Amino acid sequence: MVCLTGDVHQRSYKGTDTPFSSYTEVALAAKYCEIAGKYGVKVTLFFTGKACQEEPDTVKILSGLPHCEIGGHTYAAFRDPLSRIFKKIYGTPWGTTAHQLRDIQRTIAGIQQVTGQTIQTWRNHSYIRTAETDHLLESCGIHVVSDEVSDLKISAEWLRPAYRSVPMNVLPDHEHILHGKYQHGKTKPDRLTQRVTIREWADRVKTRIRSICEQGGTATVLAHPMCMEVADGMAVLEELCQDIQQYGTVWVSEVP
Ligand SMILES: [Zn+2]
Ligand SMILES: [Zn+2]
Repeated sequence: MVCLTGDVHQRSYKGTDTPFSSYTEVALAAKYCEIAGKYGVKVTLFFTGKACQEEPDTVKILSGLPHCEIGGHTYAAFRDPLSRIFKKIYGTPWGTTAHQLRDIQRTIAGIQQVTGQTIQTWRNHSYIRTAETDHLLESCGIHVVSDEVSDLKISAEWLRPAYRSVPMNVLPDHEHILHGKYQHGKTKPDRLTQRVTIREWADRVKTRIRSICEQGGTATVLAHPMCMEVADGMAVLEELCQDIQQYGTVWVSEVP
């Protein structure tokens, strides 16, 4: 099985890829879902609460698509004043337990308000966690978290009796593809040594997916709508969707 996932940030989020597309991440999520839908591929998209607040109409449409699962991705990807202050004081934008809990609650409520859905899945922005994250997410009704990047794990792991982790076991896109700002001539060469072309990434991802599926596992892919667009206008995303339909696809909430 293959689990295709992406993270979607708000219009006002200023990430490294933002200057490289004239579309919002929510708009690109719609294009992404359309491509996946063409091949019958299920997708789980983790939205920030603020993305839902800023572009409610599109998020509502996406949440109604039969092949699209919506999860949470923090309220504002830590672009809120309190998270910025806590990052300076504590070294982590989560700061206090109360702040983290309130952020999770606001995200869940924001998504519910726009989509009418109670989310079950979560990925932290930049995978940033504290020792309390799992306990807090579970207390807010989240059943599945997908924060861990691991080459070794090929299926979901139970962390608590009703709470599990779905590891990303395929090379995540943003950190590894030459795209946007991360290209020769646009940044220092030593920052690019670990990065590969979108073509190379596609080939590696396909090989890895095949290997995991042959072992009977679930290959969990992180391919952001924004990164896929900036890298090549989502051509490789389409190629991937075409390739993975043969293995069958599942949402994060369904990974065995
Ligand atoms: Zn993020
Ligand atoms: Zn990116």
